[in-house]
Parts: sequence; C-alpha cells; structure tokens
Amino acid sequence: MLTDKSGCRNVVIVGGGPSGLAIALMLAKRGWTEITVLEKRKTADYYEPDKAFNYQIDGRGQKLLDWLGLTPNLAEISVSSQEFYLTLIQPNGKRKTIKLPFINPNRKTAYWLPRRTFVSLLYEEIERNWQQQITVLFEAKCIELKQKQEQLQVIVESKNSELMSFTPGFVVGCDGLNSIVRQTLNDWEKPDHHRFEMQYFPSASSGLRYQVLTLPPQFPLSNQLDDQSVCTMAYAIRGKTVEGQKKISLGLLPMKNPDEPRTANIITYPNHKIWTLKTNEELYRFLEQSFPQLSIRDIISESEITRFVNSQGGVFPVPQFCSGLHFLLKSDQTFSAILLLGDAVHCFPPDIGQGVNSALEDVYILQQVLEETQDDLLLALPLYEARRSGDIEALIHLAQTTFPWQYNQNWFRRKLWDINFLIGLLLNRFLPFFFSPPAFLMIQDYQLSYQEIWHQNQRTNQRLFIFSVTLLGILFVLGFSFNV
Ligand SMILES: Cc1cc2nc3c(=O)[nH]c(=O)nc-3n(C[C@H](O)[C@H](O)[C@H](O)COP(=O)(O)OP(=O)(O)OC[C@H]3O[C@@H](n4cnc5c(N)ncnc54)[C@H](O)[C@@H]3O)c2cc1C
Repeated sequence: MLTDKSGCRNVVIVGGGPSGLAIALMLAKRGWTEITVLEKRKTADYYEPDKAFNYQIDGRGQKLLDWLGLTPNLAEISVSSQEFYLTLIQPNGKRKTIKLPFINPNRKTAYWLPRRTFVSLLYEEIERNWQQQITVLFEAKCIELKQKQEQLQVIVESKNSELMSFTPGFVVGCDGLNSIVRQTLNDWEKPDHHRFEMQYFPSASSGLRYQVLTLPPQFPLSNQLDDQSVCTMAYAIRGKTVEGQKKISLGLLPMKNPDEPRTANIITYPNHKIWTLKTNEELYRFLEQSFPQLSIRDIISESEITRFVNSQGGVFPVPQFCSGLHFLLKSDQTFSAILLLGDAVHCFPPDIGQGVNSALEDVYILQQVLEETQDDLLLALPLYEARRSGDIEALIHLAQTTFPWQYNQNWFRRKLWDINFLIGLLLNRFLPFFFSPPAFLMIQDYQLSYQEIWHQNQRTNQRLFIFSVTLLGILFVLGFSFNV
C-alpha cells in the first residue's frame, strides 16, 4: 500500500514486452525502486517464430527513447527509413527496386528492427544500468490479481509451477491483448461500470490470418544459387495464382544483422488454401507453384515447413480499446493503484505501424504527467487517463480507416484507396490551408497527437464532401444551361 508521499517504490509490472520494459526503465530513471517485471516468456530475446515481425520505431516512439538516451543504440542495430529500399520480384523473376515514396526526409528518421532485437535493447539497458532498481523475472506468469484486506495481491506461477505472491502498491498491466490485469478490473467493476470492457470497431483487415515463415539470413532470389538476398533490403515477392486460388505474396522487412534469420510474412484470408495444407509435401508443392521464381526447397528447410504446417499462426485483431486506464483502491490513509498501458488497452491490426509506437508514447505521456505531479499517483493517474484517453479513441478510428486494404484482399477497394490517397495529396499540395494531408502521412508526424490527426482528417473529409457536391452542382447547372 502507498501513502501520498511513499509512492516511488514497490511496483509490479505484468508483462515484459515493449511497454512493460519501457515503463520499468522510465520509472527507474525517475528515481523509483523495487520494480519487478513479470514475464511469462523464457528470455528477452526468446524467438517466437509467429511473433517474429519487424517494427518501425518512428518519431513518436522515439520521444521516450530520446528521453531514456537510447535512440543512438536503436540507430546502431536497425535499418533507417532513409535507407529503406524495396525490391519487387514478380513470378517471372522480373525485379524492380524502389525507394519508398511516402518517406518524408524532413520527418524524423524511423528505424526498422525485429521485435526481439527491440525488446533485447530495452532489457540490456536494464541489465547495464538499472539492476539495483529493476528485477525482471522470466518464466513468471501472473495468474491472478486479488484484493486482500484492501491490498493488492499478485499471484504468479513460476518455473516448475511454483507459486509466488507479491503485495505491491502499484501494479501496471502491460500484458497485451488478452490482459489478465484488464480482465480482472473488468470483473471487479461489472455490472455497474464497463470502463474496462473492450469496445470493438470493425476494419477491413481484422480477421486476416498471418503466419511468419523463417528463412535463412541470406537466400537465393532466383534459381541461381549465388543470386543472394541482402539483409538490409525489403522484398515483396509476388506469387502466381494457383488452382483458382487468390495469390499469396511474401513480405520481407529489412534487418541490420546479417546473421539474423529473415522472416517472410504471409497474410491472407482465413479460408485461403495455404491454411488448409496438412503435410510438408503439400505445402512445398503449393509454394513451388506459387513462387516459380524461387528455389523453394533450397530456401525453406524441412523443419521450418513442419513447424509452419503445424502452427496456428495469428489473426489480426479487431481494432479495440477500453476507456478506463487506471484504478485506485483507497482506504483511510493509504491506497493502491493499477494502470494499463499498450496493447492491454488499445489493440489493432498492424496497418499503420503504430502498435509499439503508441505503447511507447503512452509511457512518454505518463512520464510527463509524473513530472507535473511530482510522482503523486493519486493525482497522476486520473490526469494521465484524462490526457490520454481521447488520443486512444482517435488512434483506434485511425487504425480502422487509414490503410486496411493494403493486403491485396480486394483489388477494387485497394485501387479506390490509391485514388483517394492521390487526390488527398494533390488537394493538400495546392490548397494546404483547406485540405490536410492523407492520414497515413500525418501519422508519421510525431508532433501531432492522434486526436489532432483524426480531427484534421474528419474536417478534410467533410470539406471534400462539400467541395464534390458543389462541383457536381456547378457542372449540373452548366450542363443544364448549355442544353437550354
Ligand atoms: C503481425 C503483427 C505485426 C505487427 N507489426 C507492427 C509494426 O510494424 N509496428 C508496430 O508499431 N506494431 C506492430 N504490431 C503491434 C505490436 O506488436 C504491439 O502493439 C506491441 O507489441 C504492444 O506492446 P505491449 O508491450 O503493450 O504488448 P505485447 O507486445 O503483447 O507484450 C505483452 C507481454 O506480456 C507478456 N504476458 C502476457 N500475459 C502475461 C502474464 N499473465 N504474465 C506475465 N507475462 C505476460 C507476454 O509474453 C508479452 O511479452 C504488430 C502486431 C502483429 C500481430
């Protein structure tokens, strides 16, 4: 339990992913002690093949990393957006390399790196400088959160199924989409309040199924074995249509480390043929037919094919958020507090690359609020919720609408998106005071909050609607006068 002035110690953080390790570092740098992070995985760099996706840490995520002094370390182990080249490889082997056009060189450089490399960056900083303040317990799974005699109790199952119990004054739920901390708060508040119940918003990319195929660090890009891939290059390897099925593509994002396995994302409808293949041979044959430009059996090992066939992969979530971000358990002189951050309170498909960036921004805003309130949690947590909840709601609407058609689900809708994007760009170029840039570009501007981006986007859409109706009206009147 805490009193007003004893707040800066005895914290349990559930989840040692990006947001859990980031808040641990932030609190330690603010002078907090006795911080315990509970992480159910084995190690920080534990390789989970189906979670082996790459992050782009942009200016928004870097606000916290700048404050922690970690951006130079990030730059060292990542591929920067200035060096981001994409090679498209068609089924007939034709190639084209492009520099991605939507990177604005005036914006802060963003950095690409695998998830486990980023999580390890945060963990190594704890090991290097904050071991006295932070303890990270791996293979420690939070299985229950209880209120016991007006205190919080965290029950943890560790290696060999041993049970441990903690009684912290402050619990932070950074345990991702299926957060046990949020679900517990929801149970405590039901049926009177629904602050911790997720609200869902449909999107054209939610429900898509994804699996990650692990490839060797270097692999042949054609049937010539010395035609090797380059680790810092992104690839979009287009497939051929197989037996009336929709095509698949392999998407590979760049990596700095030449020894790191490459990962190819396969993202498609849940009823796609690839998810029905049950044997290694069926999958090998399907991939060989889809990608005649590649020497599939030289690239993908038998063990990887076995793993892929047996894996369930993942499904893009429905954009969702909850309005409650904190909970206070008060008694006469003391209190305990719970806070939720990252995917535990806002989760969505990866279309706009903001999952990890918004989680880091949560921690950055919390640090500002702690600074303003001199770490008084009774003041800080309500203020944080008031300041951040509008942004979270706007973020979910942006995730829903900004770029959900990018996975080749529907050719027509994708083309409509392209046209809409181009019109938005042109209108903004010629009438910048009237029309804001497309939301996809504004999101890269880390100085704009998600609320500002969403409001500007809504205003532009309204103006575009009025502009189109007026133009049609004028054309109609002109046409009518001309005929008369
Ligand atoms: C396919 C895919 C691609 C993505 N690509 C991008 C991208 O390009 N850019 C981007 O910004 N975001 C991307 N994201 C989203 C991003 O991964 C998440 O938003 C981000 O990881 C959120 O971090 P977090 O720490 O809040 O949650 P998580 O990363 O989910 O971490 C939660 C941690 O808590 C641990 N945990 C869970 N429950 C317990 C428990 N009971 N006890 C102990 N530990 C527990 C988990 O093991 C995990 O380590 C992508 C997501 C997916 C699925």
